[in-house]
Amino acid sequence: LKENNARRLWHPMTHPADSLANPPDIIVEAEGVEIIDIDGHRTVDAVGGLWNVNLGYSCQPVKDAITAQLGRLPYYSIFRGTTNDNVIELAEMLAEFFAPDGLSRAFYTSGGSDGVEVALRLARQYHKIRGEAGRVKFLSLKKGYHGTHTLGASVNGNANFRTQYEPLMPGCFHIPAPYTYRNPFNETDPARLAQFCLAAIEDEIKFQDASTIAAFIMEPVLGAGGVIPPHESFMPGVRALCSKYGILLIADEVITAFGRTGSKTGSRHWGVQPDLLVSAKAITNGYFPFGAVMISDAVAEVFEKDTTGKGAIGSGYTYSGHPVGAAAAVACVQEIERQQIHLNAGARGTQLFAGLQALMARHQIIGDVRGGHGLMCALELVADRASKAPVDKKIIGKVHRATYEAGAMVRVSGNNIILSPPLVVTEADVAKILSALEAGFSSL
Ligand code: PMP
Repeated sequence: LKENNARRLWHPMTHPADSLANPPDIIVEAEGVEIIDIDGHRTVDAVGGLWNVNLGYSCQPVKDAITAQLGRLPYYSIFRGTTNDNVIELAEMLAEFFAPDGLSRAFYTSGGSDGVEVALRLARQYHKIRGEAGRVKFLSLKKGYHGTHTLGASVNGNANFRTQYEPLMPGCFHIPAPYTYRNPFNETDPARLAQFCLAAIEDEIKFQDASTIAAFIMEPVLGAGGVIPPHESFMPGVRALCSKYGILLIADEVITAFGRTGSKTGSRHWGVQPDLLVSAKAITNGYFPFGAVMISDAVAEVFEKDTTGKGAIGSGYTYSGHPVGAAAAVACVQEIERQQIHLNAGARGTQLFAGLQALMARHQIIGDVRGGHGLMCALELVADRASKAPVDKKIIGKVHRATYEAGAMVRVSGNNIILSPPLVVTEADVAKILSALEAGFSSL
């Protein structure tokens, strides 16, 4: 296995040459909040799978639901004329879960990238039904990540995920994110920076002509771009601009839905009701690929009352509404509600963030610490604090390895170390992550 690991297998988001030089760790088992590799090395999973294993790896009710469903109805499509009982039950549960966000209808996908694609398509379609066919453009944030499909890649705000695949979808425009550590305004005050970014959005809306813009898509807290929480005024400000100019607001909550920010959803964290919300990841806790795009009453009604014939949904996947995925999701949402995991995410997130700030005081290589909103935190590593030049990739690799050896799996993204452990971590688990990181940085 070890030999064929890099030779036969191309890993996502990885240069094949890097995999060959440094074969990825082979994880063979998981239990609670820990993962175990092929050599029997056990570590706290401070990545939470890939921001998705919010309930940890030993969630018996979900395992039972999947097993029962596999024996009863392993698959049937929900295309044209058939459906299954699980997807109906799930839609009802999701409508209740997302009710405070003003969202009441569910459209199922097989993951986050699919969901982004569906949401962007629905946005264009919504305007067409309403007779505003000119509204086709999309706005998004630099540093935003919206998956790997063509529309999603077009709105991605990180050039690394776009340039190799260009030309992508025309009509997508990226606006500076409220990233206090680095921004074109040289502004370090989060509230003022939020105002500058909002002004930049409004400027772009006017420059493009509002009547040509379909939607603004954003993550409530930017995730893969390096965990960038905005000032509390930012997302409400985006909502206000979207409403003012007739633009739909799409919340990409692939990471933030289901408790990660310490609130049940990221939109609710900022007191915002989006028009469309993309969820995936934690909806099945990693047990099955699945996603749901949630739709507001107002948007749904435009489709449901359509008399133009333009309202038929042209998006759908073989695995949309997969009965096993839906059974897993029903059990997950029940557990998420029963355990109220967002509350633990808030408390443990505060502990983690404070520990990371203390780590920064001891290690000059850490230029910025971000977090403070549940269990999503990042350390940005720099060559020196004055220049803020990103640290050499090899040095981050060394910290990553030493941290892993000391007992915590963390994620490297660019010059950031990202932490997004399961939301069920205990105080002792967080202490273990912090001491492993201390060992990681001390190894330099
Ligand atoms: N949107 C966001 C905000 C994400 O973080 C991700 C995945 N990390 C996606 C979309 C794409 O989701 P998936 O990998 O399930 O296709």
